[in-house]
Amino acid sequence: MGLPLIMTENLNKEFNGTQALEGFSIEVNPGIFGLVGPNGAGKTTLLRILLGLLKADSGTAEVFGLDVSEKSIEIRRRIGILHENPSFPKHMTALGFLIHIKRLFKNPQAPKDLLVAVGLDQEGNRKIGALSAGMHQRLGIAQALLGNPELVFLDEPTSNLDVTGRSEILQLVMELNHERGTSFFISSHILSELERACHDVAFIKDGRVIEKGKMLDIVRKRTAHSYRIVTSDPRALLNAVRNMRGVHDCVLSGTNTITVEIQQGNREKVESDVKAVAKGLNIEIYAVNQASTLEDAYREVMQ
Ligand code: ADP
Repeated sequence: MGLPLIMTENLNKEFNGTQALEGFSIEVNPGIFGLVGPNGAGKTTLLRILLGLLKADSGTAEVFGLDVSEKSIEIRRRIGILHENPSFPKHMTALGFLIHIKRLFKNPQAPKDLLVAVGLDQEGNRKIGALSAGMHQRLGIAQALLGNPELVFLDEPTSNLDVTGRSEILQLVMELNHERGTSFFISSHILSELERACHDVAFIKDGRVIEKGKMLDIVRKRTAHSYRIVTSDPRALLNAVRNMRGVHDCVLSGTNTITVEIQQGNREKVESDVKAVAKGLNIEIYAVNQASTLEDAYREVMQ
């Protein structure tokens, strides 16, 4: 593999006694990368440092192998950005807007082609103010692609969208990565989306990287001993199972489910014990499945 797109080493940033980033090191390779963490974790601070808008107190950060504090103009020429709450001039048409900002770039892509690429070719002559939330985000992505970037930053790209809108935007990101080879750095708190779209992921909390790596490896590694049990009475089962031998942890994970983390090697024994306990309490068990989603991994890591 060639040079990473982004590399940070031991980044530190403090704001009046709050350590926003602490010894923060990540590598982002070509593909779709997801950064996930709770509010206040340091995502925006990292993004601002990478975009050259904020200076770290110490440590290094490079994008395309270029130092962000020295080469931010060159870096910005090669990236695209869609901020969390983008605002576009409502009175302009979608096409008119892209034509208007195209002059900021040396070798811009043709706005009409971009509207086709993001699925807005029928909307080009409509006023931006009349577009739906999903169309706004598509326009935002078109705008981010205008300068033909190698890497696009998407900050919470789907937080204002409904389920269908979210799914469509993610589909678009995956298509753009597949067809054009554009890489994406997505900051999001919607785990199911990141799981679908990202090749690599990093979990961050209190300014530190808690886990990072290939999505599939993290999910497999972190959920190897977790099982989701679908039951008629999750609360009663939770209380009964919580202190059972071989059970490491047990949480209510849905209206009808509990997630049980077992100690290594006890799977059959724990499953049969849980079933026996349920029978004694007259509780139905509908299914026992390996818990293997990014959300399960996240819960496990963040605990
Ligand atoms: P996130 O984007 O993950 O929600 P942020 O990077 O915005 O997290 O914030 C990380 C921490 O740094 C938080 O505790 C936040 O309050 C603090 N912080 C961020 N920016 C500033 C600032 N300009 N002044 C003071 N504190 C800040």
